[in-house]
Amino acid sequence: MRKIVLASSNPGKLAEIREVLADSGIELVAQGEFGIGDAEETGTTFVENALIKARHAARLSGLPALGDDSGICVDVLGGAPGLYSARYAGTHGDNAANNAKLLATLRDVADKERTAHFHCTLVLLRSADDPAPLIAEGLWRGRILHAPQGSRGFGYDPVFFDPANGPAGELAPALKNRISHRGLALARLRELLDTEKR
Ligand code: IMP
Repeated sequence: MRKIVLASSNPGKLAEIREVLADSGIELVAQGEFGIGDAEETGTTFVENALIKARHAARLSGLPALGDDSGICVDVLGGAPGLYSARYAGTHGDNAANNAKLLATLRDVADKERTAHFHCTLVLLRSADDPAPLIAEGLWRGRILHAPQGSRGFGYDPVFFDPANGPAGELAPALKNRISHRGLALARLRELLDTEKR
C-alpha cells in the first residue's frame, strides 16, 4: 500500500478521489491529518496551482503528494470564474455565495449561451523536489442551470447540468466519478502510474 497525501482541505474532492482510488493500492491521507494547511494559490494556470499545492504538502509531510486544481469555466464569461472558482464571490470556498453570484450574473442569458465546463488538473509528486511530476487533466462539459437543483456533490454541482446525464446535483457519486473532470483526470493518472510500473 502506497501512502499519498492529498494536498487539499476540500472534503468533496477527498471523498471523490478516495472512491476512485479505492482499489488502486494507494492510501490517500488528507493533508489536514498532518496539520498541513492550504498553500497560497499564486499561479495563473491550473497546472501551476496544482503543482504549488502538491509541492507544499510533499515538503511538509515528507511523502508523495497529489494536488488537484479545478474550477468551472463559463463560455459567455470568457472562461471565468475558471482558476478563481473557489473565491468567485470573495471568500474562499463559500459555495452558496459562489453559486448565487454565478446565477445572478447569468440571469438574462438564454440556455444555449449557458455552456460551461469543469476543468481538473491533477499533479502527483513523488517527493517535493520531483523534477518529473505526473500530470493528468480532465474536462466535463455541460451548461449552467437557472436555479440550483439537487443536493448531491459539492461546489458548483447544484448549478451544473450535463445534457447526457442530468443535473450534477442529482448524480450518484459513482456515476459522477465516471464522467466528471476529476474522474477522467484520475483515470488518466492511473494509466500514467500503470505505465511507470512496467
Ligand atoms: P480549488 O480548490 O482551488 O481547486 O477550487 C476549486 C473550485 O471549483 C471550488 O469552488 C470547487 O467547489 C469547484 N469545483 C471543483 N470541482 C468541482 C466539482 O466536481 N463540482 C463542483 N464544483 C467543483
